[in-house]
Amino acid sequence: MLRAWDNCGNASSIHEEGRRARAELESARETIAERLGVLPQMVLFTSGGTEANNLALKGAPVERIVFSTVEHPSVTEAARAAGVAVETVAVDSEGIVRLDALKSILANSPLPTLVSIMLANNETGAIQPLAEVAALARDCNAIVHTDAVQAFGKIPVNFNILGIDLLTVSAHKLGGPVGAGALIIREGLRLKPQFHGGGQEHYRRAGTENAAAVAGFAAAIAESEPDSARLRDRLERELEGISPDVEFFSRKGARLPNTSCFAVKGVPAEMALINLDLDGMAVSSGSACSSGKVGRSTVLSAMGVSTETAGCAIRVSLGWNSTDSDIESFIGAWRRLTERTKKRAA
Ligand code: PLP
Repeated sequence: MLRAWDNCGNASSIHEEGRRARAELESARETIAERLGVLPQMVLFTSGGTEANNLALKGAPVERIVFSTVEHPSVTEAARAAGVAVETVAVDSEGIVRLDALKSILANSPLPTLVSIMLANNETGAIQPLAEVAALARDCNAIVHTDAVQAFGKIPVNFNILGIDLLTVSAHKLGGPVGAGALIIREGLRLKPQFHGGGQEHYRRAGTENAAAVAGFAAAIAESEPDSARLRDRLERELEGISPDVEFFSRKGARLPNTSCFAVKGVPAEMALINLDLDGMAVSSGSACSSGKVGRSTVLSAMGVSTETAGCAIRVSLGWNSTDSDIESFIGAWRRLTERTKKRAA
């Protein structure tokens, strides 16, 4: 990133600095393309996952969008703002999309349709059966978008094996900088641009590209390896030792190896968050908190989790640099928190 910053060029300029910025961009494009198993020209750089999701949903040549009840707001709100018909497909108690429900939704309308189902959930880590979703969609001539923001860098992701048309990734979820992302677009699929202006990104996204952020994105990808679940599993095992009534969400099926979402009745999420923060642990509540407020988790409610239990749900995400000593610190902090809660209840 420092190399690209020092260079200071605009990738569309033909002078030396511009050519250097262009080289950074194209080299990053190749790194991302290679990791996802696509051609470099299929990679369109954006400012992050939100922009890529908006471009996919608002720009696709369709008249109906179908998305699951556990999608990120950058999908649900973009779909609702797209000015086309929208339908939601339910999930089961593990947070997995109901394929029977999707099949009947796809069959019930002749409208050209886009199906948007995330690859892995941001609250629970549940991994969706994307290849099966894509096969159902193909039978009905629907196009498929997946939000792979949480999955990319944590599990292997291959665009062609999934058999999809559009895929979103974001740099800051795998250790890269905030402010860089990409939309992968199947060759031949034309999207309506959402930004108008210059001819950058082959007239698909106007605006001078952020070469430094994109270089950071590529560097993070080059360093990233699919995670092992060892640390997360250790955390869950030791947590069960302290709080035997802990309820883990989406634990029965395929899950991201770095994510654990759980609730312990009697330990409200806000209290847990504040206490863990004082102990130096940055965790999130299961609830959406993008506005700075703790709201009800639409993901857990779509999975049929009661409001009372959802109010106690927190999610722990391990990063690329997490270690055993982080798990030990977390477990120590959790032990202190539960002791305090018990004393207060007594
Ligand atoms: N999609 C999912 C599943 C996410 O978890 C996030 C961010 O948390 C986004 C999209 C938005 O990505 P960005 O923050 O890069 O806009």
